Amino acid sequence: MISDSLEGIIMNIVLLGPPGVGKGTVAEILTGKYKIPHISTGNMLREAVAKGTSLGTRAKVYIDAGQLVPDELVTTMVRDRVAQPDCSKGFILDGYPRTSAQARALQEFAAIDVVLNFTAPPKTIIERISGRRTCRTCSATYHIKYSPPKKEGACDKDGGELYQRSDEKPGIITERLKVYEEQNKPLIDYYRNEGLLSDIDASYHITEIGKIVKQCELTISKSQ
Ligand code: AMP
Repeated sequence: MISDSLEGIIMNIVLLGPPGVGKGTVAEILTGKYKIPHISTGNMLREAVAKGTSLGTRAKVYIDAGQLVPDELVTTMVRDRVAQPDCSKGFILDGYPRTSAQARALQEFAAIDVVLNFTAPPKTIIERISGRRTCRTCSATYHIKYSPPKKEGACDKDGGELYQRSDEKPGIITERLKVYEEQNKPLIDYYRNEGLLSDIDASYHITEIGKIVKQCELTISKSQ
């Protein structure tokens, strides 16, 4: 019973892995178990774009091109977020850090306890991302084949319109995976050297997501 034994323990978790590897889905499950917030920089940035904030306006051009938003913008956003009271017992960072510069910046304002590195073959990832649809209202995600909504094109939770993100179209996915590969290697090395990194085999089918969650729970409990 992980949630009981975690009472009072501060757990700062980082999830690493390419887009589409299932980090977001697993993070939502872990957030429910551990009662600490799931902080997705991709979701925060998309929200800023939708609201038309100055951060959103600056970030949009990079997001639409499948490129990384500049480090300073994202780091400021994350630093402000983890300073919120709901992060006092810990948090699950998903999508940050993405570069070694971001990892060094993160170290300045938060002590990370464990880094879970999700891995899966590129073919699996491309199939997952290109079938993904997102709710315009609540950001819930579906897969047209593996986890379709009850009614086509509408979110099960709030009926919001489901759309394909501009950066989830095939050409852009390939660009994002390339950017990920280039940026990720030093980050993996950085956290491995720190002794914080554990690999998680995320190649399982969505119906076996429990196997991925279990690996995460075991790693987290070992790092307490
Ligand atoms: P995601 O939903 O995590 O795949 O993020 C979608 C897009 O948001 C990425 O392709 C980047 O343009 C941007 N983004 C998210 N997190 C970061 C980050 N830590 N650093 C730079 N850009 C980011």
